[in-house]
Amino acid sequence: MKNRLLQDTLDLMRLPGLSGHEDRVRREIRKRLSDIEVESKTDRLGNLTAYFPGDGPSVMLFAHMDQLGFIVRKIEDNGMIRLARLGGVPERALAAQEIVICVPTGRDITGIIVNKSHHATSGDEKYQVVLSDDLYVDVGMASSMAVRAAGIRIGAPVVYAPYAHVLGEDRIVGTSVDDRAACAVLLEMARLLKARTGGPPVHLAFTVLEEFNLRGAQPLAQRLAPDIAIQLDLMLATDTPDMAGKGDMLLGGGPGMSLYSFHGRGTLNGVIPHPAMVSLFEAAAEAEAIPLQRSAQVGVLTDLSYVQLAGEGVASIDMGFPLRYSHSARELCDLNDLVALTRLLYAGLGRICPNFSLDRDDHT
Ligand SMILES: [Zn+2]
Repeated sequence: MKNRLLQDTLDLMRLPGLSGHEDRVRREIRKRLSDIEVESKTDRLGNLTAYFPGDGPSVMLFAHMDQLGFIVRKIEDNGMIRLARLGGVPERALAAQEIVICVPTGRDITGIIVNKSHHATSGDEKYQVVLSDDLYVDVGMASSMAVRAAGIRIGAPVVYAPYAHVLGEDRIVGTSVDDRAACAVLLEMARLLKARTGGPPVHLAFTVLEEFNLRGAQPLAQRLAPDIAIQLDLMLATDTPDMAGKGDMLLGGGPGMSLYSFHGRGTLNGVIPHPAMVSLFEAAAEAEAIPLQRSAQVGVLTDLSYVQLAGEGVASIDMGFPLRYSHSARELCDLNDLVALTRLLYAGLGRICPNFSLDRDDHT
């Protein structure tokens, strides 16, 4: 399991899949599902689902395929390119980054987000973050004509140059660990669910547009009408000097369960998990001797915020893996957390029997 999780994570991290442009990632995941003889289908937005029949309350277990990045906003006469941000891109981590502009498969073009020559940088400028509106990309071409001839148009998707490596023994570093690591966990879940002999009906879903508008999974939740929704994404690791005081989430310390998430930046949304789901995963973790970490964060939001509101309401919980340096081009997670998360999810699903109660009064 560990080697497969590593390989799937690294392979998926190497594919560009900006929000609204997840197609290459979706096709690769679909191929991997088909390799293990799991049928899948794509909806109009690009969400990919696979169904595993069973008895009892139905479960939607999902992770997003898309990643944040940019869109080509303007091509200057001299061939320089201006970008519009898409998603929560950290502006102070952009200068001197390598990016890839996606043109139809196989013809992607590498560029660099420039950093003004240091020799010409004034004292004040040295400590300023250049806003993304003022940044530009150099693709090594001298005119807008050359840029257009290469296939770059306004609206083209742009991502951090894909990068995926192992750091130390078991740590994975690179682009879009958020949320390809969870997509790899879902692929492993597909292998496990295919071989199981009982359990609840499960819809595995690889979703779109999370980093853009958080609502790509919404039509899926409306269509599938699950009783339970489990979302997989990063949990903010707080074991670095800059995160001291933010929580108790250790990288390599086991999977995480979110007890509270709230955006707090104008979006009145977040998730307070259903008590049945909290006790389910606590019990599963204890029975399997898996350390389960708890997260409560403001500033974090996932598409579960919208999924939980579908139909009559969905018993929901955010589960995930600790991650450092979120949304930068070098995110970091620990492979052992992905293994433990997979084991915990499988054990948790196994405890959802046909009479599993979603009545809050049975759990509070
Ligand atoms: Zn994410």
